[in-house]
Amino acid sequence: MTPAAAKGRPLLRLEKVVRSYQSGEQTIRALNEVGLEIYPGEFVAVMGQSGSGKSTLMNILGCLDWPSSGDYWVNGENVKGKDADELARLRRETFGFIFQRYNLMATATAEENVEIPAIYAGKPRARRMARAVELLGKLGLKGREGHRPNQLSGGQQQRVAVARALMNDPPVILADEPTGALDSKSGEEVMKLLGDLHGEGRTIILITHDAQVAAHAHRLVRISDGRIVSDEVTSKGRAAKPVQAHPREEEGMALPGFGEAAKMAMRALKVNIFRTSLTLLGIVIGVASVVTMLAVGNGSKQNVLDQISAVGTNLLSVRPGAPGIRGSGDIITLTQADARAVEGLDNISVAEGERSGRFTLRYGNTDYQSTVTGTGPGFTMARNWAVAEGSFFTDRDVAGYAPVAVIGKTVAGILFPYGVEPVGQYIQVGNVPFQVIGVMAEKGAGFGGQDQDDVVLIPLSTGQVRLFGGNYVNAITAYVTDISKIDDTQAAIEDLLKARHRQEDFSVRSMASILQTATAMQNTLTMLLGTVAAISLLVGGIGVMNIMLVNVTERTREIGVRMATGARTFDILLQFITEAAVVCTLGGVMGVVLGVATGLALKLFGVAIVFTLPPVVLAFGCAVATGLVFGYLPARQAAQLSPVVALASE
Ligand code: ADP
Ligand code: MG
Repeated sequence: MTPAAAKGRPLLRLEKVVRSYQSGEQTIRALNEVGLEIYPGEFVAVMGQSGSGKSTLMNILGCLDWPSSGDYWVNGENVKGKDADELARLRRETFGFIFQRYNLMATATAEENVEIPAIYAGKPRARRMARAVELLGKLGLKGREGHRPNQLSGGQQQRVAVARALMNDPPVILADEPTGALDSKSGEEVMKLLGDLHGEGRTIILITHDAQVAAHAHRLVRISDGRIVSDEVTSKGRAAKPVQAHPREEEGMALPGFGEAAKMAMRALKVNIFRTSLTLLGIVIGVASVVTMLAVGNGSKQNVLDQISAVGTNLLSVRPGAPGIRGSGDIITLTQADARAVEGLDNISVAEGERSGRFTLRYGNTDYQSTVTGTGPGFTMARNWAVAEGSFFTDRDVAGYAPVAVIGKTVAGILFPYGVEPVGQYIQVGNVPFQVIGVMAEKGAGFGGQDQDDVVLIPLSTGQVRLFGGNYVNAITAYVTDISKIDDTQAAIEDLLKARHRQEDFSVRSMASILQTATAMQNTLTMLLGTVAAISLLVGGIGVMNIMLVNVTERTREIGVRMATGARTFDILLQFITEAAVVCTLGGVMGVVLGVATGLALKLFGVAIVFTLPPVVLAFGCAVATGLVFGYLPARQAAQLSPVVALASE
């Protein structure tokens, strides 16, 4: 019964092929036990009314879809049990597709559209381009290589589609209503092209409902309600040497590289430049905030640590009051005698008692309130604080209750008019005259922000007698010689004072422990800032995912075309992941730049900024990882689509 039975082994063979669709309760048999053999070099037209099953047949012939039951052999290979990638290979090696609506990629030029099947076949770029240009030339599109589909007429677009179908030099051309969307003249041209291709020895399978179009073929298969109702030779086919499949070309096995995917990604992103920019913005802000916030956090930490270190970490500070004792301000048991006893301990070079109060200072007509601290000559060493002008008071001044004062830079600046040398002048401290004998070096803002230079230092003895009253002190500051033994020394002070006071009405703290507390506090702050920033980065990532999901939905048909031209699951996956990765990498780079720029700008305004590499690497890494993760999910969804489903989408 088969008219071409004499031609040897069939190229394509269907046996009892059923393709059924489930629609609700009903099962529709779009193909019902179809048997068909197609031999190399035939030009077959499949005709039938709309809904008769023509497209279903073509999809199965082209390995875009597979039978629900029955067998289909391509070149002797049964497609049953083949996975998606093997089917992709079969498509790539055997078929070129021409669709009714051309299915060109709107964002790519004619030349790039023609190249696509060769990209998935792994052909080198130069050869690809040369062949694409040559094919377009042959099809009368010379000079139109750089045009996009919307710059071409319908007939020209269909010719680009024909060139694309020929790119991998397939032995079989499958054309589903190729003239359906064309005017009669363009339709004639396309039919003549198909005739020429047949003349070259290609097997042509043409699907149409138009008898005039079908008349170009040499064999006519009529289909109705999913069954073949007639199959006849209408004219003698030309005896051409059939084109053979090109299985497993060496280079055909190479994967299209990441570079190709990146290029396609850039193109896809450029098309929707506004949407891409908004997505980018999310990532940029996320990365920039991580970089800036952590720099601010680190800067603030560094600031505090510097201030504490400036005070000196060799200090132990004894203060009245301890946990459990109420009203530590009333505790007046700490004395200068305690300070002397502490000074006698091992590993302590100086210990000075200090007593402070607020007093009004006066020089000439200027009144100023400041903190007045009574202390001893060891103060400069204990506080690691030098005298800038004049000198500090001595043991003799202390012993003689000398009315002398050393003032801080701030006090000097406020009390004395420009041009008056403070050293040697007399000032009133709470109505008691003191002679200024020195000015301390500038120390700046202390831990907590108070101005450390806003101070007047006087001998403790003088202060106790003439200003403060009583012989107790507010604090004892001790300077530790060997910092590695600071814990033992602290314990020794505690033991000594406990023995002297018969109770623990004081506490000893080291600057090192304050440093630790401050560091912990600052780390918490940095963590907090980092968390806020990380959240904004996450939000940016969700933006990428959203865009990728929209992308996949919008471009389902494009995915179908790519699959029809031989793209593997992996190729589709790679392409969409690459798009997400490109957005995120770009966003990461821009975010780092913006973050550093913002940091530098803040620095100009006096904010402490310390850039470190880890946050930059972390933020950038997170951005790229976000892209890969959030890009992967929609990409996988895209890659798992069946080619027919993808092609059928609007
Ligand atoms: P033709 O291309 O000849 O117009 P099709 O092959 O597209 O016809 O369709 C054949 C039959 O299968 C029709 O009845 C159609 O409604 C049905 N069909 C096609 N695709 C699907 C599908 N995805 N789901 C359900 N029914 C389908
Ligand atoms: Mg159809």
